[in-house]
Amino acid sequence: METIAERLKSAYQTIKQSALEANRPSNAIKLLAVSKTKPVSDIVQAYEAGQRLFGENYVQEGVEKVQALKHLADIEWHFIGPIQSNKSRLVAENFTWVHSIDRLKIAQRLNDQHSPHQQLNVCIQVNIDDEDSKSGVSLSEVASLAAAIKQLPHLKLRGLMTIPKAQASEEQQIKSFSAMYTLFSEMSKEYPEFDTLSMGMSSDTKLAIQNGSTMVRIGTAIFGSRQ
Ligand SMILES: *Cc1c(COP(=O)(O)O)cnc(C)c1O
Repeated sequence: METIAERLKSAYQTIKQSALEANRPSNAIKLLAVSKTKPVSDIVQAYEAGQRLFGENYVQEGVEKVQALKHLADIEWHFIGPIQSNKSRLVAENFTWVHSIDRLKIAQRLNDQHSPHQQLNVCIQVNIDDEDSKSGVSLSEVASLAAAIKQLPHLKLRGLMTIPKAQASEEQQIKSFSAMYTLFSEMSKEYPEFDTLSMGMSSDTKLAIQNGSTMVRIGTAIFGSRQ
């Protein structure tokens, strides 16, 4: 059994190697360690190995971990799961990033509930393969949601996030990733604060980096499989 520190190191090597092959600087891609369902002790192990960006999916669980690890003040907590209206305050008060904005109402609530002293970093989640089971807006809805978010003073729109279809062929995955990259590049011209294309997980890290990802969200490859 490899330790979390060893698997984390491998994940960074995968990023570095994929970047090299894609002719991109490896520091252009950040690693978000997705610790959902895993105990606080696992997060501490990754932290001690140097990891600082952590992603959580479930509000209650995520908030408990943020609170338990308050003393590790340089952890950057990212919320990456679906948000119900009645849970938005907890997200706004405990996280500094939200990748999963999929409607204006949630953006407005986060804007109102986040500390007015600093902005909350947000990404719009795009349902790139138009799956009924997935959250996120369709490609055609991204521009209008972005324009509306731009008006919200306590949110900083950093980019786009996607979770492509799980069982897709490599060809289909490339098509989805590159459609995201095209949209991201287009929008970057209009939104100077756009610097984040959050895509790629344990199984498709390399493909996502080849297609322009700037942040990969890796769970299983670092913390092991989940129940
Ligand atoms: C669980 C999850 C991940 C990590 O997936 P792995 O396959 O375990 O790497 C990334 N992003 C989101 C939104 C997730 O829910």
